[in-house]
Amino acid sequence: MTLTNPQIVEGLRALPGDNAVIAEPARMGNFLSEPRKRFHAAAVAVAIPGSVAALQALMAWANENRVPVIPQGGNTGLVGGQVPLAGNEVIVSTTRLDKVRGVDADAGHMTVEAGVILQEAQRVADEAGAMFPLYIASQGSARIGGVLSSNAGGVQVLAYGNARELCLGVEAVLADGRLYRGLNALRKDNTGYDLKDLLVGAEGTLGIITAATLKLFPKPEAQETAIANVASPAEALDLFYALRERTGGRLTAFELMPRFGIGLQLTHGMIDRDPTASLSPWYALIEVSRMRGGTPGALQAGLEEALGTGMIADAVVAESLEDRALMWAAREQMSDVQSREGASIKHDVSVPIAEVPRLIAEGIAAVERIAPGIRPCPFGHMGDGNIHFNFSQPVGADPKAFMAGAEPIHAAIYEAVLRLGGSVSAEHGIGQLKTGLLRQVKDPVAFEMMRAIKQALDPNGILNPGKVLE
Ligand SMILES: Cc1cc2nc3c(=O)[nH]c(=O)nc-3n(C[C@H](O)[C@H](O)[C@H](O)COP(=O)(O)OP(=O)(O)OC[C@H]3O[C@@H](n4cnc5c(N)ncnc54)[C@H](O)[C@@H]3O)c2cc1C
Repeated sequence: MTLTNPQIVEGLRALPGDNAVIAEPARMGNFLSEPRKRFHAAAVAVAIPGSVAALQALMAWANENRVPVIPQGGNTGLVGGQVPLAGNEVIVSTTRLDKVRGVDADAGHMTVEAGVILQEAQRVADEAGAMFPLYIASQGSARIGGVLSSNAGGVQVLAYGNARELCLGVEAVLADGRLYRGLNALRKDNTGYDLKDLLVGAEGTLGIITAATLKLFPKPEAQETAIANVASPAEALDLFYALRERTGGRLTAFELMPRFGIGLQLTHGMIDRDPTASLSPWYALIEVSRMRGGTPGALQAGLEEALGTGMIADAVVAESLEDRALMWAAREQMSDVQSREGASIKHDVSVPIAEVPRLIAEGIAAVERIAPGIRPCPFGHMGDGNIHFNFSQPVGADPKAFMAGAEPIHAAIYEAVLRLGGSVSAEHGIGQLKTGLLRQVKDPVAFEMMRAIKQALDPNGILNPGKVLE
């Protein structure tokens, strides 16, 4: 029997353990409104468990009564995975599962609960004399459970890997309320299937992560940061290869930025001075981390060499923390500034790094044929082959009419991505935004394997239904 909404709320309120329940629509706003404002379904209620045991009781009850549940952390996801789809779901917020369970900087790991904010996890690591190297622009709100469930990437994947690679073990409540106790700090464990890697990146469809053991690293002594002028993405790639060779594992970030995006930020007053050395169609924002005992000036020397061979035309090295902050602000605001220029069409894609220049050239050419006057703004994690392939509407165009023409533009970009051996979702996931696309492009056998795993772990389909898998 399907429960009515009042029965669901009554059932939630009667659960044993500490589950705060919000059922008044006026109080649910912050849980329903997501960063891109694309998804607008209501929820039956928001439940906020105060302990893992309370969450277990909630899941056992939801499973028995076939009540769909959406795990939510910081609600910063960009593909609608954390917000309702059908309007009959209960949002389960992890915000109260926010304890640090242990830190061992010498051994290189810490265990934190799912609701710990990413920035707080970084702070805890720092205070213990170590570094948790996952940096994303939403780190002040995103929570560890959400970061792991969306396998977030960010600006240092190049050197440290994405969330999956930074996680040693997880604890999770399964769809039926059982607890998977997978917290361990082992670097080696070949005892069968890797269940941690299934739960990480599952976007809340296979279980609710309650805690994780995360890798810690030695803190660099200093960062050398620069912006180099490159004539094209092909030159940026050459520079990437050259600096990677010259600086070894110390190259921690290599981001591509078009002049278009820097110019917009200056026009809209989002940066108060130009962080670049001079005008150039493209720039590379580069960071090299110097460990204790390392020789200073590695980036400067690499850039001088590149200037000497004509690989780059100009460059500026940050001389203060303020310079560095400005350079990073210019990179991090690259997406936001587009909303000040009207509508924009976005793609989070990746290709093998050697194909990035081709992807950008062929993607821009194809889209300009479809929409003359469109303003390309591809930028992002070039060192990982992950480009945020965005386009701003033509100057003066009607935003609604522009967005109505998005489909052929998506198709052109995804065609180029797939032809070049890439992925249609590099770091933001599938959520509810890309389920149709996933079905179209995923290898049919892989898709069936994913369905079989979902069926085995969540036979009643109550965990984030309609997300990832249609
Ligand atoms: C300004 C901005 C910048 C960003 N930059 C980057 C970036 O550089 N790189 C990048 O990879 N991403 C980036 N993101 C998106 C990124 O995925 C999220 O910010 C973050 O990883 C999600 O964490 P969250 O706690 O907000 O999760 P939510 O948004 O709450 O949830 C995300 C997904 O995880 C699931 N989930 C949440 N908690 C749990 C849990 N405990 N157990 C199981 N499932 C759970 C949800 O159901 C949903 O499917 C950015 C987002 C914003 C708004």
